[in-house]
Amino acid sequence: MTTVGILGGGQLARMLALSGAPLGLRFLVMDTAADACASQFAPMIVGDYRDEQALGEFASKVDVATFDFENVPAESARWLADRVPVFPNPHALAVAQDRLAEKTLFRELGIPVPDFAAVDSREDLEAAVASIGAPCILKTRRLGYDGKGQFRLRTAGDVDAAWRALGAQASTVGLILEGFVAFERELSVVGVRTRDGEFRSWPVTENWHVDGVLSASLAPAAVDNALAEQACDHARRLAHALDYVGVFALELFCRVGVLLANELAPRVHNSGHWTIEGSETSQFQNHLRAVLGLPLGDTRMLGHACMLNWIGHMPEASVVHAEPGGHWHDYGKQPRDGRKVGHATLRADSTGALAEALARVGAALGRDLQVAPVIERLGG
Ligand code: ATP
Ligand code: MG
Ligand code: MG
Repeated sequence: MTTVGILGGGQLARMLALSGAPLGLRFLVMDTAADACASQFAPMIVGDYRDEQALGEFASKVDVATFDFENVPAESARWLADRVPVFPNPHALAVAQDRLAEKTLFRELGIPVPDFAAVDSREDLEAAVASIGAPCILKTRRLGYDGKGQFRLRTAGDVDAAWRALGAQASTVGLILEGFVAFERELSVVGVRTRDGEFRSWPVTENWHVDGVLSASLAPAAVDNALAEQACDHARRLAHALDYVGVFALELFCRVGVLLANELAPRVHNSGHWTIEGSETSQFQNHLRAVLGLPLGDTRMLGHACMLNWIGHMPEASVVHAEPGGHWHDYGKQPRDGRKVGHATLRADSTGALAEALARVGAALGRDLQVAPVIERLGG
């Protein structure tokens, strides 16, 4: 019996465990919170990721380790990797944890990026705003997620406010200033690479965010083949350069037909949740196959899919259950403002049928769902 260890016990670990059950896999999850939502499906070790005793116990009980949480300290990942196989490798994790390191790597690989500059002091910030120009975004280099740790500067006059908001973090997690990209679309490529270096990706996905949090994903994205191939090629080269094993997402902005890389998520990704019902093989299943050295499953799509995130609290489920291609996911989390508590995927054989299903769900739930832009993209 193979046991897969997962560092981090959120919904990604939960969906990995659910996906691994038919493969006969066992799981052990480590998290700092005893009520982490994966604990409903997998045994847990509760402890700090820097605690060698807890990590040692975890290492002694698993055959392979992977991540649900990208901010596990890179030193802890390295410590673990000396004892048990860890995928993705700690170097790839460390690069993806640092916006400056990842953007520098993108640039080295010839993957275009928004303008960026490291900011270590208030003088650096002023100089960076002067050279990059406003609007721009100041971000923490490390530990940000769901748009947290970011400050948007509309004009150079916002330097004071930006420094007040994030300046104290310059000496802890570091800061980076990025040019604001007036993109037409946000896209992501969810890819997977095996221990032998085989790479596959799912069809490119278009994503809509509200206040920095993913709200809706549509697959396949309505982009031309050349652009989709370029996006996948960026992802392939990145995975190869990092000797990456497992699933990851490359987030991209598309502006006047040019792709600019935003960030690399070194794990299964929210914009790939639609693959559970919308693809021959889900991102969760293929991540497990990759880290275990098993052959990958086919990543082709089954029709068209749209995922809607439930943020803050779960809505009424019945309208999604009533849809022929409606699939409900409740992560079993306590409601909390801004928290991802579940999602739904609508799957259909045609763009028209998907647009109709979205219209019904949007009308019934009446929440601030991003269904209108998705329907528009579907040509509805
Ligand atoms: P995630 O939850 O995806 O890990 P995050 O906190 O790491 O989010 P980003 O992905 O950098 O943050 O930013 C969140 C969202 O904010 C992006 O998806 C995009 O909508 C917007 N955004 C971020 N950077 C830029 C930029 N340079 N130009 C325009 N919009 C941006
Ligand atoms: Mg991120
Ligand atoms: Mg992001």
